[in-house]
Amino acid sequence: MHSADGTGKRRIGVMGGTFDPIHHGHLVAASEVAALFHLDEVVFVPTGEPWQKSHKLVTPAEDRYLMTVIATASNPQFSVSRIDIDRGGPTYTIDTLRDLRALNADADLFFITGADALSQILTWRDAEELFALAHFIGVTRPGHDLSSDGLPEGGVSLVEVPALAISSTDCRARVRGGDPVWYLVPDGVVRYIDKRELYRD
Ligand code: ATP
Ligand code: MG
Repeated sequence: MHSADGTGKRRIGVMGGTFDPIHHGHLVAASEVAALFHLDEVVFVPTGEPWQKSHKLVTPAEDRYLMTVIATASNPQFSVSRIDIDRGGPTYTIDTLRDLRALNADADLFFITGADALSQILTWRDAEELFALAHFIGVTRPGHDLSSDGLPEGGVSLVEVPALAISSTDCRARVRGGDPVWYLVPDGVVRYIDKRELYRD
């Protein structure tokens, strides 16, 4: 099988997230890392019921999945996986990576994560196995320090991506307050939020 770096091994980026909703910060991060690391593909993996957020109300998985599909559909390098949604229950990154590893036995996996999530990396379960399953790429995010303190040597790359001060939390608040989210999220996602009347409470 071909690969973007010519070694024959496919290089697959993995972008996990709640994507409630997916926004241009996610898409720019994935695109930038794909170029920098010569990835063949980036798989977006919307969470099932995220344990970090289980105390809050999270939009139904099918809506988050469809918004992620709409946002990525035009990019031939981007795809969306249902593995975390279909597994059911809370999503652990270790399960995401184990399942993707089983489905892509000879690929190199690159887990892409924002600086905010990276700083919690060692609080994740099974940290050692995580680093064996994938290379971790921490990307800059406005308001969060991109620091590798305490992270295993060689297991993590830190990269600067064009800074977009966009968060899903802010997008939801804007919709609730009647403010526009045009150009913060893809056009089709604006339409979908409207059609399904998401984030209105
Ligand atoms: P919420 O505000 O609900 O937490 P979010 O904007 O943080 O949403 P998530 O779905 O939680 O979006 O994030 C998925 C991944 O994308 C995480 O690794 C997160 O750090 C990263 N990410 C989110 N927004 C940005 C951004 N603007 N720039 C870089 N990385 C981002
Ligand atoms: Mg977040």
